[in-house]
Amino acid sequence: MNQPPIPLVDLKAQYAALRPDIDAAIARVIANTSFIMGPEVRAFEEAFAAYCQARYAVGVSSGTAAIELVLRALNIGPGDEVVTTPFTFIASAEAISAAGATPVFADIDPLTYNLSPAAVEAAITSRTRALLPVHLYGQPADTGALRAIAQRHGLALIEDAAQAHGAALHGRRVGSLGDAACFSFYPGKNLGGYGDGGAVTTDDEALAGRLRKLRDHGRASKYVHDELGYGHRLDALQAAILGAKLPHLDAANAARRRLAARYSELLADTDLVLPHALAGVAPVWHLYVVRTPQRDALLASLREQGIEAGIHYPLPLHLQPAYRALGLAPGSFPVAEAASQQVLSLPLFPELSEEQQERVAAALLASMNFG
Ligand SMILES: *Cc1c(COP(=O)(O)O)cnc(C)c1O
Repeated sequence: MNQPPIPLVDLKAQYAALRPDIDAAIARVIANTSFIMGPEVRAFEEAFAAYCQARYAVGVSSGTAAIELVLRALNIGPGDEVVTTPFTFIASAEAISAAGATPVFADIDPLTYNLSPAAVEAAITSRTRALLPVHLYGQPADTGALRAIAQRHGLALIEDAAQAHGAALHGRRVGSLGDAACFSFYPGKNLGGYGDGGAVTTDDEALAGRLRKLRDHGRASKYVHDELGYGHRLDALQAAILGAKLPHLDAANAARRRLAARYSELLADTDLVLPHALAGVAPVWHLYVVRTPQRDALLASLREQGIEAGIHYPLPLHLQPAYRALGLAPGSFPVAEAASQQVLSLPLFPELSEEQQERVAAALLASMNFG
């Protein structure tokens, strides 16, 4: 009965499958000693832009940097407001603050956990400059409705696509649904490097040019700096690794879809609220998240059975100590607050085996019979 533990994410399994390609990419960069910018970064940017159905991709040092750089490139800063979700990883809002602007939260939709367009519209003020929806758990936000709101109020629409590489809405990939999109290549994301990395995609040539400058110290040429920027470049090593992994992303996302559908079959007869995909949406299930009032007991019981589950996210951003200064009390965003107490992320990664998945489901069923 002493079965091996099941992790939330298993990055070793993926490396084992792609090892020759990844080792060759790393060896190539080292042999060329072209570690900063250069052909590997350019090649990955082109491939990633094409993958996202966008004209340009600009590699940067992280997903957080991607958001901050887009805001800077759009001249959004002190005195400006950006509307986003309180139910996300803190980086979405933190990057807004880093740019000098103020994050303004709007509540989420209880079925998809993504921003509610009606709540977004109600949060707009005369200072609002942009909307920053997150495609949470790999499901595209309702960018159709959000784009209409953005157009009506003259706002930029910036996607936080850090959890949704390859997801689509009515046949359009994320990365092409707004004015710009921000991706993270943190190792556990759907497309992950072997360290930090990120990218911005856009169809706007001027914006792409400004981003290229800002990520590299405002550099116009080797020794001339047009403006003060950042050291926020994408590493050539990461670009080469990401370039080796990108051709396998669709297969990995297809495996996630298959596993998500199987979880939903295995758990259909329980009280758990299962993930809900909207019509016209092709999610990529960065996370498979169920919902239950018994979340904490289930999490503890799974842990005892050697199954690592997670909570994304236990504390909404407006209640984080770091955002105390915003003065937002509990009750400000009731849908996000309720979700944060009830969501549970089950182990999900493309290499999760049928046997592992059945063990997770069996452990859940057994735990719920106790409750
Ligand atoms: C991971 C993540 C980020 C930040 O990405 P980093 O590369 O870690 O900086 C931003 N937003 C969301 C929704 C994320 O999941």
